[in-house]
Amino acid sequence: MRLRTYESFWLLKNGLLYSYPSAQQNLTTDTVVLGGGITGALISDALISEGYKVLLLDKNDIASGSTAATTSMLQYEIDVPLYQLSNKIGEEAAATCYQCGIDAILELEALVKQRKIDCGFQKKDSLFFAHTAAASKSLYKEFEARKKHRLGVKWLSAAAIKKLYGIKSHGGILSETAASVDAYKLAHELIRSNTQKGLQVYDQVDIKKIHHNDKGILIELVNGCSIKSKKIIYCTGYETVRMFRKPVADLHSTFACVSEQGILINEKLNRLLVWNTRNPYLYLRTTDDGRLLVGGADSKYTSATYLQKNKEQKSKDLMKQLQEAMPGIHFINDINWAGIFGSTKDGLPYIGPHPDFKNSFFVLGFGGNGITFSVQGRKIITDLLQDQPNELASFYRFDR
Ligand SMILES: Cc1cc2nc3c(=O)[nH]c(=O)nc-3n(C[C@H](O)[C@H](O)[C@H](O)COP(=O)(O)OP(=O)(O)OC[C@H]3O[C@@H](n4cnc5c(N)ncnc54)[C@H](O)[C@@H]3O)c2cc1C
Repeated sequence: MRLRTYESFWLLKNGLLYSYPSAQQNLTTDTVVLGGGITGALISDALISEGYKVLLLDKNDIASGSTAATTSMLQYEIDVPLYQLSNKIGEEAAATCYQCGIDAILELEALVKQRKIDCGFQKKDSLFFAHTAAASKSLYKEFEARKKHRLGVKWLSAAAIKKLYGIKSHGGILSETAASVDAYKLAHELIRSNTQKGLQVYDQVDIKKIHHNDKGILIELVNGCSIKSKKIIYCTGYETVRMFRKPVADLHSTFACVSEQGILINEKLNRLLVWNTRNPYLYLRTTDDGRLLVGGADSKYTSATYLQKNKEQKSKDLMKQLQEAMPGIHFINDINWAGIFGSTKDGLPYIGPHPDFKNSFFVLGFGGNGITFSVQGRKIITDLLQDQPNELASFYRFDR
């Protein structure tokens, strides 16, 4: 499955940062982390920190899947509003999921600072604005639900949003915890730094079959070699949906573009993530190299040809929506790209064991805040490996 267009901003900006050998010998380990995107990078980091012997495998280059295409807005806000999620899973559980999103952003900030990873991490506020008067009513209801659970929110009137940020709206929620990052660089640098702590990494690995046995995992490679492990953690992104008999997520395509550097915008936008109530929603943020990044225009079509053929037109659609929100903005489109995107029935990820796969765990961060969910996967997986209870694991389980 092609997860994105050939071009993606982060790949063009950074190039292939590090590459690794393909596995050409028999190997044995405690834990295989399958997939070297941002999820595999975060999970292998957590396991190495806990003292596990870890082997990271990817069938492609490291971080070259969705992680190379992501727009990396780090938000605590789940695609399903808190008041609606409360109806689905109960108010306390929904509030816990939202609060854990805030904790995950702070955890990632601490990790990046502590390891001194140069990945453009910037702590920001987040503005969720209503694009019509009708949408404003339900957004205010959402504001009240979040305020009740002390999620660090303020309601801003349309006039205040216009004055502060120059955005035309019908009011919106300002949240105090959000961030943006270059997830491609973060994944690469995290993996690289862990190779110095014993993480073994193999990319371009051609896997023939994975056997999930009572005693452990056996991975047969096409070259005749094999890898034995006690456990496997699947961090294999959206492609993983094909492994399950019962569907867990719907796949869509989503589009993004960045302006040339030095775009003239309200300076306050450099410390803000923005998204709105349209369906599909428009979102924007600045990058650490002085561009404005705009995304959205999702479609139900996911073929590689569709993504490649439609990215120019979709950028034009995004520009039209941008002009509506910020009339007169002079956005010169520099690079556009598209990727596959997964969403679940309740906006929550699937993290934990699956009954059909022995000795295996999955970390599948679907939705608009997939990366925040992957951060949450760190504690969930280390708890589950040690047979410790974990509250989030019950909300994110497969049989929910
Ligand atoms: C345009 C776009 C915008 C987005 N914006 C945001 C955003 O603002 N915020 C946010 O949080 N999320 C966002 N997302 C989602 C985010 O990109 C994903 O949640 C995240 O990249 C998933 O990372 P991952 O490591 O799980 O998957 P991937 O990056 O796809 O990594 C999975 C890896 O597994 C490997 N793999 C797969 N199958 C196998 C196998 N059988 N054997 C070996 N290796 C295998 C692949 O080669 C790949 O390298 C966006 C996505 C797109 C496309």
